[in-house]
Parts: sequence; C-alpha cells; structure tokens
Amino acid sequence: MSILEIEQIATRNDNYVYLIRDISSNRVAAVDPSDADPVIGALNNLDWVLTDIINTHHHNDHTGGNLELKDIYNCSITGPKADHDRIAGIDSDVGDGDRYFLGGSEAMVFDTPGHTRGHIAFWFPESGALFCGDTLFALGCGRTFEGTPQQMWESLKKLRNLPDETKVFCAHEYTQANAKFAVSVDPKNEKLLKRAENINKLRAENKRTVPSLLGDEKETNPFLRCDTESIAKAVALDANDPVTVFAEVRLRKDNF
Ligand code: ZN
Ligand code: FE
Repeated sequence: MSILEIEQIATRNDNYVYLIRDISSNRVAAVDPSDADPVIGALNNLDWVLTDIINTHHHNDHTGGNLELKDIYNCSITGPKADHDRIAGIDSDVGDGDRYFLGGSEAMVFDTPGHTRGHIAFWFPESGALFCGDTLFALGCGRTFEGTPQQMWESLKKLRNLPDETKVFCAHEYTQANAKFAVSVDPKNEKLLKRAENINKLRAENKRTVPSLLGDEKETNPFLRCDTESIAKAVALDANDPVTVFAEVRLRKDNF
C-alpha cells in the first residue's frame, strides 16, 4: 500500500499538469506536462526530483514539456501503446488492462479512445485518483477528434464504472462553460443547478473546480447520463440508444 501526494499546476490558458509523488519510493511523475518551465518551477518549490512522465495522449498541450524535462531529469516516459509513434521521447507504452507502477503506487490503465485514437487513463485505486486527460472533464467530455461517438461513449462508461469517491483529475479548467451547457440540456436536475451555482461562485473568486468527484459527475455530467430518460428526452431521442443520444449531445456542445 502506498499513497500519492498530488500537486496541481495551472499552465497555458486552462491546462492542468499534475505532479504526483509516491511517498514510499519518492518517485515523482508529471502527468501530461504541457510545458517544462512551470513543472521545473513547481519541482524546485516542492524540493521534488522528477523520475517519470506519464502522457494520456499525444496532443501538444499534454506532451509539450516531454523532451526538455527528459533532457534535464533523464526521466522515463510512459504513454499510450496505440499512439506510441506520436508521443515525444516515449520509453514504455501501456494499454487497456495494463498496470503502471510509480514506485509502490499502482495504477490501472484504461484505453479511452475518442478524443484521440490512442487516449489512455490512469486510475490509482489506493489514492482514489483518476487521471483522465481529455476524455472526461468536470461536467463535460473531450471533443471526438479522432474517434466515433460509439468509442467515446464506451470510454466514458469505463470511467463511470469507477467508485463514486474517485477524484477526477482532468487536464483542463473548462468547468464553467461546461456547466452552462449542461444546464441547457438538463435544466430540471436540481443537483446540477446547485453545482453550477457553486462553480460560478468559485470561478468568480478565481478558484479551481478540478478535481471533481466522480459520484457528482455521475449525477450531473450530461455526457455520463446519455442512457437516462432525462438526457434522452432533452434531445428528443431514446434512452435505449445511448450512442445516438451521446452523438447528439456532443454535437450540440460543439455548436453551443
Ligand atoms: Zn487533447
Ligand atoms: Fe488538452
């Protein structure tokens, strides 16, 4: 049993990079380092030494710091097997059902294609932490750039299966815009309305809304609820066909 310490770094306009330290081994990983400089600054403040990088997908705002950090720290880079060739500096690759170890901390790896074809997520059960990149966001989900609605829905369902108390460490602060859209498709969801209000308050004070709790996402995130009557009805479709519902909700969000 080992536990992670998690440090959240805001980078670029709305990215979150995470530094995670396995207490037993003192190994430290950067999750989706968009850029090297903010990571180096945070490491110096914490007096941590980077040993690992993990990437959820190939986009530059998740891998942009890979090579510079590897150059400085000689750290080992782990990324998605299905996108091996698109991850700068990759050393090892992982896919669905694989285990990833940061010292004594073990993560289960899920393939979560849809946003990109080789997207993965890391779940550390002992720390109750999910690093899901651009698959699941607080009150939203990633755009389906390289996958089908069917793939994205299946990916989201895998994450939805995790325990309610799981903390969702997604890679962007998109929550306020997501909340506005969520309320437009699910206006009678009392929990969602309350959550949206709280998010507006937090953002007005420039506070972070990430991580969120998976249990709250299950109840309020429309993209996790495409097999419920309320979301299906909102887009005039059948809850027995959640993929079609998902496709429609995603399309509406793209145009919102
Ligand atoms: Zn992305
Ligand atoms: Fe991104």
